[in-house]
Amino acid sequence: MRRKFIAGNWKMNKTPSEAVTLAAELLPLVKNDEEDVVFCVPAIDIVPVVAAVKGSNVKVGAQNMYFEDKGAYTGEISPLMLKDAGVDYVIIGHSERRQYFGESDEMLNKKILKAFEHGLTPIICCGETLEQREEGITLEWIKGQITAAFQNVSADLAKASVVAYEPIWAIGTGKVATSEQAQEVCGYIRKCICELYDEATADEIRILYGGSVTAASAPELFAMPDIDGGLVGGASLKPDFGGIVNYK
Ligand code: PEP
Repeated sequence: MRRKFIAGNWKMNKTPSEAVTLAAELLPLVKNDEEDVVFCVPAIDIVPVVAAVKGSNVKVGAQNMYFEDKGAYTGEISPLMLKDAGVDYVIIGHSERRQYFGESDEMLNKKILKAFEHGLTPIICCGETLEQREEGITLEWIKGQITAAFQNVSADLAKASVVAYEPIWAIGTGKVATSEQAQEVCGYIRKCICELYDEATADEIRILYGGSVTAASAPELFAMPDIDGGLVGGASLKPDFGGIVNYK
């Protein structure tokens, strides 16, 4: 039985002091020992939020990292820095990173391998545009993204990773995918993992849905057989996140 995984993506919101206030507000609402609960916060908020959630059930994630340990990469954050600061997870390949910062599948694969090297668990994002969905090439596109992401990743590491299916047309739009649409793609991702590795790996890997999830839509989405939780943007900044975590 896979443990549910609910991550909030705070995106570029909250100053360090605001982040501490939000973490304190959310902590009592997101208590749940049966799920993994993660706050993926802006880089500058990591240190104070790690301190704020200490002793709770919440882990901290980063929203991005670079694929080198250190060096002349002005403005970048290394996996060593994240690990030392107390981070456990890192979102890799969010569609906003792909779209606004030109991150390619090849670069994302390097980041995924580097995250594993330093004991960080990547939350690997994939998803299609509305045009791709309308053209009927969603599954083909997702297969390409998944295959590229898991290049040279061992089965043991793949098992421990988290994939987030986030249709771009549903992110921040209020237009949530139906549970059938989300299940179709999440089930297909599991099939791709089975083809790339084996059934045991496909059974263990956690696959999330992301895109305008709210406390109202979470129960139906998370009841689907291949949806193991959610990556939540807008609603993760509000008390609604508590309702998403405790959706049952
Ligand atoms: C996201 O950015 O990962 C996301 C799913 O955002 P939202 O929930 O706001 O659509």
